[in-house]
Amino acid sequence: MAKRDYYEILGLSKGASAAEIKKAYRKKAIQFHPDKNPDDKEAEAKFKEAAEAYEVLSDADKKARYDQFGHQAFEGGFGGGGGGGGMNMDDIFSQFGDIFGGGGFGGGFSGFGGGGGQRRVKGSNLRIRVKLNLEEIANGVEKKVKVKRKIQAPGVSYKTCSTCNGTGQVTRIANTILGRMQTASPCNVCGGSGQTIDKKPADADAQGLKVAEETVSIKIPAGVVDGMQLKVSGKGNEAPGNGISGDLIVVIEEEQHEKLQREGDNLHYDLYVSFPEAVLGTSKEIETVTGKVRIKVEAGVQSGKILRLRGKGIPSINGYGAGDLLVHVNVWTPKTLNKQQKEFFEGMLADEHFEPKPESSDKSFFEKVKDMFS
Ligand SMILES: [Zn+2]
Repeated sequence: MAKRDYYEILGLSKGASAAEIKKAYRKKAIQFHPDKNPDDKEAEAKFKEAAEAYEVLSDADKKARYDQFGHQAFEGGFGGGGGGGGMNMDDIFSQFGDIFGGGGFGGGFSGFGGGGGQRRVKGSNLRIRVKLNLEEIANGVEKKVKVKRKIQAPGVSYKTCSTCNGTGQVTRIANTILGRMQTASPCNVCGGSGQTIDKKPADADAQGLKVAEETVSIKIPAGVVDGMQLKVSGKGNEAPGNGISGDLIVVIEEEQHEKLQREGDNLHYDLYVSFPEAVLGTSKEIETVTGKVRIKVEAGVQSGKILRLRGKGIPSINGYGAGDLLVHVNVWTPKTLNKQQKEFFEGMLADEHFEPKPESSDKSFFEKVKDMFS
């Protein structure tokens, strides 16, 4: 089945503002909300579809990628939850619960009953920052990090809540001027989980949880960007009873490289050559993200020339090729000269051979920059 366009799903046209996107999603979410459409599979599918569209269009990074590449932008399916159709109800409620403004839906729950069953409480998400150097970003890396997360304390046991009989909800009949009204609200004895503690070990908190340190292995794909968030499902805090664990959100932090400057997927490197090297030509060893390479600098190179090493930049996060490494040639002019050197250059002053004679191939800096972005 062909995936529908995200804008179409939300009834928007391309170029919709962030406020319009949020408003459109809220409307769809309320229309197809499972509480309003019990046991309606089609409504549930539409609810999920709208959430997936919103997940992408509400995130500036993902939206930009979607606008450029369409659904293909997320086919790589990295851990960041690229909107690849893998959203479940728990994800939707935990990520976008606030869209409902607390006005009736969800409230304290992130779980979804799925047709009359009890709601499953979800543990809270944890967030960590992971520092990566440029080589790790370029090649992808697996990082092992220590995470302090709440787990169910060994020896804890839970039983069905006797107040709500495990439904997580209490219903009340109230007499109002409109007649008898039945209202349902979360059970405040079990917090909506439908379970209470049976046996609680001494070192556990009120929910039967304790903090434990765990080593979590995180696979980071090549091409991530500073500030990007990856999700490791189920590695956040555990929930009490039969609830489901929260997620571990990994925020990428990029370390500045000593020699290489990143600009999107391209890298820039400043190469300095001496005046005689520029005149005579030379070869130079330069750093790249995959090790050192030797490059040739032609005799008569002009300062400001850019040598492009194709594919030696950062691989695209979407898996489409890689950026380039742009080597900027800078000719180093000596600031002082001894007597003999001075006499040599003074002798060249009147020599026509040293007169600048730029050819069309010796483009100005501004023309080169223009070329790079065209
Ligand atoms: Zn209860």
